[in-house]
Amino acid sequence: MSNVLIIGAGGVGAVVAHKCAAVPEVFTNILLASRTKSKCDKIAEAVGGNRIQTAQVNADNVPELIALIERFKPDLVINVALPYQDLPIMDACLATKTHYLDTANYEPIDEAKFEYKWQWAYHDRFKEAGIMALLGCGFDPGVTSIFTAFAAKHYFDEIHYLDIVDCNAGDHGKAFATNFNPEINIREITQPGKYWENGAWHEIPAMSIHQPIDYPNIGEKESYLLYHEELESLVINFPTLKRARFWMTFGPKYINVLNVLQEVGMTSIKPVMYEGREIVPLQFLKAVLPEPASLAEGYKGQTSIGCQIRGIKDGKERTYYIWNNCDHAEVNQEIGAQAISYTTGVPAMLGAKMMLTEKWSGKGVFNVEEFDPDPFMAEIGKYGLPWIEEIDKPLPIEKY
Ligand code: NDP
Repeated sequence: MSNVLIIGAGGVGAVVAHKCAAVPEVFTNILLASRTKSKCDKIAEAVGGNRIQTAQVNADNVPELIALIERFKPDLVINVALPYQDLPIMDACLATKTHYLDTANYEPIDEAKFEYKWQWAYHDRFKEAGIMALLGCGFDPGVTSIFTAFAAKHYFDEIHYLDIVDCNAGDHGKAFATNFNPEINIREITQPGKYWENGAWHEIPAMSIHQPIDYPNIGEKESYLLYHEELESLVINFPTLKRARFWMTFGPKYINVLNVLQEVGMTSIKPVMYEGREIVPLQFLKAVLPEPASLAEGYKGQTSIGCQIRGIKDGKERTYYIWNNCDHAEVNQEIGAQAISYTTGVPAMLGAKMMLTEKWSGKGVFNVEEFDPDPFMAEIGKYGLPWIEEIDKPLPIEKY
């Protein structure tokens, strides 16, 4: 029996709400709160059965968050608002001694830089308060980190090379749209790429390294080396890694439009004066782009996200590939979501279940790969994200 507070009523928040509502034996009372209450109400209505209560909250405002938490008394807060809200929500959890979970690490609003340092700095305070924060429990970060922990636990003595491969081969029929919050997404892909090799980070110009990668049930797609936040904790938690990289697919049309937007200054986060007031071009762009949740209807095709790993077992070289494919139309049929929101929201619900049932417990701030992957891996398929593994077969990343 537990109370859970979900903050954020976007594409991911809707999935978390649906999925928590379907597990009443763990999530007894659910409150969905966000900046725009009408979006919470719409989701609550779609879930039905009076399972979801709703509230308005500005999650940048710590006293407002504390008042909401004191009123509803959640055992856990699931933060699926934006990365900017991570620290205020963690502050409110500390003040009220409430567990915390998120899917994306903190970013300062005025600098496109994502690092765990701000959130890891809460470790001692969470420990002293006797509460737990679970960071990055979506798909990537999240399941990709749990896949890596699962591989290291069951199949390798040492993992040496990790390539996280993220393909969205779906078609939403829009001229240009991002699959999760446009502002966060564009900040992520327009900053320099970075990968880990031989004990150091190597920075590259944005989108400058790319190659085709063959994805299961999809085929070859051009994939771009990006910096992605789970790399930061994985190279610390798996110190045998000699190299760790992250690849994401983008179609030529997406790249073209993004280039134009960048060249004309629309992706800038530096404020400009417009008709006597300051506006941030990227925030304005976000306002005219489709919301991630609105892409679900008519979205066709699949995502395929996984980990390709090379390492050593019993003195011999070993390869391992583990992945999940998720079909946009199928998950729209199930709960009216698109696959990117779905693949993020399902692990967030299951991570919350792991915490509330004490399969994963601790005092302090943790990344998902620090816990036993087995109970999570045993259940994620039944909640909609089954996985497939291949052992000692040629890795698609090494084909070229
Ligand atoms: P959306 O833009 O669809 O939703 C964000 C929600 O947060 C909106 O409902 C928004 O409210 C709300 N919000 C924003 N600011 C505040 C605030 N100050 N107070 C209260 N609510 C606020 O984004 P997504 O659902 O696509 O993404 C949600 C999160 O999931 C992001 O942090 C994203 O980075 C993360 N993510 C993680 C992934 C992973 O695999 N780990 C993959 C995809 C996303 P309003 O409706 O009023 O704008």
